[in-house]
Amino acid sequence: MKVYGVIGDPIEHSLSPIMHRAAFDAVGMDADYSRFRVMEGDLFEALKGARVLGVAGLNVTVPHKERVAESPLLVNDETAENIGAVNTVDLENMKGYNTDASGARRAVESHGVELSGKRVTMLGAGGAARAITYEFGYSTTHIDIVNRTESRAEELAEELTDSGIDSKGYSLDALEELIPETDIIVNATSVGMKEDRSLVPSGLLHNEHIVFDVVYNPLKTRLLKDAEDAGAKTVDGAWMLVYQGAEAFELWTGEEAPVDAMNKALRKSLKE
Ligand code: NAP
Repeated sequence: MKVYGVIGDPIEHSLSPIMHRAAFDAVGMDADYSRFRVMEGDLFEALKGARVLGVAGLNVTVPHKERVAESPLLVNDETAENIGAVNTVDLENMKGYNTDASGARRAVESHGVELSGKRVTMLGAGGAARAITYEFGYSTTHIDIVNRTESRAEELAEELTDSGIDSKGYSLDALEELIPETDIIVNATSVGMKEDRSLVPSGLLHNEHIVFDVVYNPLKTRLLKDAEDAGAKTVDGAWMLVYQGAEAFELWTGEEAPVDAMNKALRKSLKE
């Protein structure tokens, strides 16, 4: 039997076991998936120990994604290296990947969204925003980054521009000016999680917008409700969670992930 898992601290909240066990069941694979709480100082020892114990692969969650990317034990792929964060480890080959990035792309593309030629307004400049802007930025025309702490938005925009991605950073005050002109709005802040609040004034939304919220608890955030009311196309954060898991499954097994089974299991558990 193959063993996989997720490491983080805290870790009890992680929904990854539900999704991956559903995937193993769906394809009839003899495998299991567990949660492991690992503290910062033990991180590299934990990776080494997991490999010695024969664990085949790990997902990495908050707060360890950046530190795992610095592990001398792993060779990271180009995306993980650019982003500076690893959320999937193939322990059989000691490789690090960032499937948050590709998961976000598959989330929007599975809803018929074409990234090329689009202007994006990214809310947030943290880990999720970083992964998504690097992934979307080589396809889209321009990315405006809007963040509570303006300096972080400016820093990320500068870094993206240096990597050949046209980008500019702003404070939240710029939303009134930017939102009406943008094609895709991404919320990659934690605003809206377990609260009925959105950073985007509802009156700015219109029916040509595409609105993607990475927050998945609740599934329909205030931002997505407002976007739906305005007739916009919406993509919820559970899709990103499903597709980052699907990408990890595919990297580990070399087989196509049973996305429907993973999606159903995740949504069932989120609704409970
Ligand atoms: P992070 O690195 O801590 O970044 C948090 C971001 O949210 C920062 O830009 C921060 O702004 C902003 N923010 C926090 N509280 C705010 C407030 N009250 N008002 C305005 N802005 C606020 O976190 P992260 O890892 O990027 O995660 C962000 C969210 O994405 C979380 O809800 C997480 O659960 C979700 N997520 C979802 C998936 C998925 O698969 N769907 C994957 C990864 C993350 P400052 O810079 O000003 O602090």
